[in-house]
Amino acid sequence: MKILIAADMEGISGVTNWDQVTAGHFEYSRFQGIMTGDVNAAIRGSIKGGASEIVVTDGHGSGTNILIEKLDKRARLNAGNTSPYAMVQGIESGDFDGVIFVGYHARSGSGNGILAHTWSSKRVANVWLNEVEMGEYGLNAALCGHFGTPVLMITGDQTACTQAVDLLGDLITVEVKQATSFKSAECLTPEVAQGMIQASAKKAVKGLKNGKGPTPYKMREPVIGVIEFRLVEMADSASRMPDAVRLDGTRIQFTAPDMASAYTVFRVAVGLAG
Ligand SMILES: [Zn+2]
Repeated sequence: MKILIAADMEGISGVTNWDQVTAGHFEYSRFQGIMTGDVNAAIRGSIKGGASEIVVTDGHGSGTNILIEKLDKRARLNAGNTSPYAMVQGIESGDFDGVIFVGYHARSGSGNGILAHTWSSKRVANVWLNEVEMGEYGLNAALCGHFGTPVLMITGDQTACTQAVDLLGDLITVEVKQATSFKSAECLTPEVAQGMIQASAKKAVKGLKNGKGPTPYKMREPVIGVIEFRLVEMADSASRMPDAVRLDGTRIQFTAPDMASAYTVFRVAVGLAG
């Protein structure tokens, strides 16, 4: 059993504001430690559930948030930016049996979602793939599905967990906090949350091993993507992308042959918009 643990930071235990997840800001280094703790809990649980190999991908910002010297030594770490498959780098090997999302957040525009956004809070207002609104959980799960790998579990606030279940169906959720606005939540302590993450990861990997895992989330092909930008000038820039179709002031559409290509085209468009 080879497991990929894909980690983001906004949905980590106790996180409620940008300072806690932005390098150089007050409290950031504290939350690097807590993020590493949440990931370690998922590693311990996965191994107890029967995982034999674990790779962790640090998917937040520069990809240098997890404290490697404190990471459980049974895992290897994909760190840094910009890797070919970003938040789920490693998945392209095609030999992972399951993926666990740790520290995920709700999609852009959600109520009661801590720091809810999709890829870029400054640039992206909304994203649809084949007319389905996607958060990062959806974009990444669809890429995992393209490589034949199911997402087993997600940790984050209650809105992130609900959105992932609505899209992906049968996966295990760990609500480490109950968001009461964009920047407030009732949080479990890391100790309690990490106990839950460990127990759930064990259950998820054990279930997969016993043939009861979820099925990979696969997109219909070709994949038609629509990105709504926050500003018209961002869509102006992104529409310079070859084959982009301008739908209106803030929205562009693209067509990609498969999800691996759609993931890259989406990132290029968001990059151009900056
Ligand atoms: Zn993030």
